[in-house]
Amino acid sequence: MDLHSGLPYWIVKNKLFDYFNPLRAPYTVDVAIIGSGITGSLVAHELCEAGIPCAVFDKRTIATGSTAASTSQLQYEIDTPLCKMVDTVGMDMAVKAYHASLQSITDIEKVFDITRVRPDFRRVSSIFLASDRGGLRLLEREYQIRKKQDLPVDFLDADALFADHRIDGHGALKNSEAAQMDCYKAATGLLKYHLKKSGLTLFSHTDIVDYGEKPNGYELLTRDGIRISCKYVVIAAGFEAGRFLPRQVMNLISTYALVSQPVEPSLLWPERSLIWETASPYFYMRTTLDNRMMIGGEDVSFRNPERRDRLLRWKIKRLEKKFKEIYPEIPFAVDMAWCGTFSSTADGLPYIGLWPGRKRMFFALGYGGNGITFSMIAAQLIKNKLKGIKDDRDNVFGFKRTGRI
Ligand SMILES: Cc1cc2nc3c(=O)[nH]c(=O)nc-3n(C[C@H](O)[C@H](O)[C@H](O)COP(=O)(O)OP(=O)(O)OC[C@H]3O[C@@H](n4cnc5c(N)ncnc54)[C@H](O)[C@@H]3O)c2cc1C
Repeated sequence: MDLHSGLPYWIVKNKLFDYFNPLRAPYTVDVAIIGSGITGSLVAHELCEAGIPCAVFDKRTIATGSTAASTSQLQYEIDTPLCKMVDTVGMDMAVKAYHASLQSITDIEKVFDITRVRPDFRRVSSIFLASDRGGLRLLEREYQIRKKQDLPVDFLDADALFADHRIDGHGALKNSEAAQMDCYKAATGLLKYHLKKSGLTLFSHTDIVDYGEKPNGYELLTRDGIRISCKYVVIAAGFEAGRFLPRQVMNLISTYALVSQPVEPSLLWPERSLIWETASPYFYMRTTLDNRMMIGGEDVSFRNPERRDRLLRWKIKRLEKKFKEIYPEIPFAVDMAWCGTFSSTADGLPYIGLWPGRKRMFFALGYGGNGITFSMIAAQLIKNKLKGIKDDRDNVFGFKRTGRI
């Protein structure tokens, strides 16, 4: 599957991590991590820091899956608003999921502090706009429940929204706990760090096409017929994890993003907030360190990469129009645009942990618009499980939560 096409900005902006190390002979390792995107790299980080021997395998050039296409906004707010999530998973689980997401942003920041990897991580405010009157009613409910559950949130009415953020709208929720980064730089930076510091082994261009369960672990088979023996396997294969899943747990979605030419910093919107909205699918925007505007949305159900790519020009026009409705006074010229694949789950939560009945195959599937914060949670949960540390979040993100798996 092509995970993206067009010109993802991060691959152009960063020097490509031009690493070529396909597996050529049988290999044995304690933990085999399949996938070198932001999820696989955070899992590798947590395991290396805990002294657990591991190796990462990727079928592509390192971190050039969805991670390279990501707009890399970090928000504690999950795609499904808390006031709706409580109806599907219950109050306790929904609140735990929101608090875990909030904590995850700080934990990601700490990873970069420890490793001194510098992926342009910045704290910014987040503005959740009401797209219409119905959206405003949703935000009023959402504000009440978040306040009650001790989650950071302010309510901006139409006047405050205009006065503080120059947006002529119905109202918004605001918090100052969000962040943005360069996800490609983060993933490649962490892998390079552990290659050097922890003796991590990293195999590129190594496609895992089959696996077999053994009494004490797994045997993986590459496309070239080479065998890998491991005690545990972590599936951090993103939206291509289907091959390893006994049944599909996600819906694939095509999404679109673009980056503008740089502008004078003084022309950008106040606080350079992350801005998104209640409409579904939602439009969202951020800025970059080199004073570009990065915007995305216009999601449609994924059918095939050709159809997704054919829609790109039309989707760019729609995203541009939407931006101009919010900030007509900011000059905006598209520089690069791309489309990518991501996915959603029925309850808005990711799937992390062991598939019931498989004792040594962990899934780290950060599905949803908050994939990156979920990747951090996955890395910690898997590390804790391997270390025998009990973690409360297991039930919230595990496969058993729906009662259907
Ligand atoms: C346009 C766009 C915007 C987004 N914006 C945001 C955002 O603002 N905030 C946010 O949190 N999330 C966002 N996301 C989602 C986020 O990017 C993803 O959740 C995240 O990048 C997934 O990382 P990953 O490492 O799990 O997957 P990937 O980056 O896709 O990595 C998986 C890797 O596994 C490898 N692989 C797959 N199968 C095999 C196999 N059989 N053998 C070997 N290797 C294999 C692939 O080659 C790939 O490199 C966005 C996504 C897109 C497309």
